[in-house]
Amino acid sequence: MTNTWIIAATGAGIAQIAESAGEDANLLVVGGGDLARNLRSAKVARLVHVPCETLPELTAARTASFLAEEGADTILAADLPAERALATAAAAKIGAVWISGAVAWDAQTRTVKRSVAGLSVETIATQGPVACVLPVSEVPAGGEAQTETLCLSASDSVRVTEDKPVSAQIVDVSKAQRVIGVGRGIARKEDLEMIYALADAIGAKVGATRPVAEGYGWFDSYIGLTGQQLTADLYFAVGISGQIHHMGGVRRAKVIVAVNEDPQAPIFAESDYGIIGDLYEIIPAVKSAL
Ligand SMILES: Cc1cc2nc3c(=O)[nH]c(=O)nc-3n(C[C@H](O)[C@H](O)[C@H](O)COP(=O)(O)OP(=O)(O)OC[C@H]3O[C@@H](n4cnc5c(N)ncnc54)[C@H](O)[C@@H]3O)c2cc1C
Repeated sequence: MTNTWIIAATGAGIAQIAESAGEDANLLVVGGGDLARNLRSAKVARLVHVPCETLPELTAARTASFLAEEGADTILAADLPAERALATAAAAKIGAVWISGAVAWDAQTRTVKRSVAGLSVETIATQGPVACVLPVSEVPAGGEAQTETLCLSASDSVRVTEDKPVSAQIVDVSKAQRVIGVGRGIARKEDLEMIYALADAIGAKVGATRPVAEGYGWFDSYIGLTGQQLTADLYFAVGISGQIHHMGGVRRAKVIVAVNEDPQAPIFAESDYGIIGDLYEIIPAVKSAL
């Protein structure tokens, strides 16, 4: 019998985790009352709320001790900054093996799937205490966990003195109904003009793959497993190869359309519609056909 705890410090991120953790898993919520109320719909056995109006990370030592006292042997959390901090502290406290790069957890077999540089997916069998963070998803509906409140004092060694957005230009594509994603198939930054023209025509927001955002610096954020995750009705992927890290952020899009000149591009295997060809011919043609 395992003793699984999911740690949540934001609203996002526990749907797939709660699903894969099993119905006897417990949920530790570190945050405000609204967060605990929102997460009551999660399908878990027990929900313990640690009220916290400051940085959730400041409770890390205390929440780790609580989980150790509870006999936790499996720690799961969404791959988000506060959750990572709380999960790593708990893992260290209970002596759990930390599995990095995890993309899925199976409670039945106690196996972790993890991505290896986007080239393969390993299955790791675990024994004994284990901890990992998993890709972000939404909160599931259906359960009705009773909330227990646990008052733990937070460390006062650090405090937030300012909260300033890094960039006013970050485009939130996670809630957009239509999204065009651009990859390294776009040769020059100025070529994005034709992408924005198409986006205007179909009412879409424009996002990018990680190399286009972080490598070329053309975007302030990117789509993918470690970036923004789409819930769009339509995802139009342009010049994107379709590596696992990117596709992890787009799988929840209802319809995926891919444009790529390489018929062997992995993205075609996960697309509803594929257009093989040069995007410099196809994008203007699609735009003028509208
Ligand atoms: C730990 C880790 C986390 C990562 N997280 C993410 C993530 O969250 N999001 C993410 O996006 N990536 C992520 N990556 C990177 C990811 O593995 C891929 O390298 C990346 O997604 C590839 O981006 P791309 O498709 O733009 O580029 P490429 O793989 O280079 O693909 C470009 C594609 O464009 C096509 N093409 C070229 N010219 C044309 C043309 N004229 N017309 C049509 N098609 C053309 C090519 O055939 C090719 O398929 C991560 C990597 C690591 C190691």
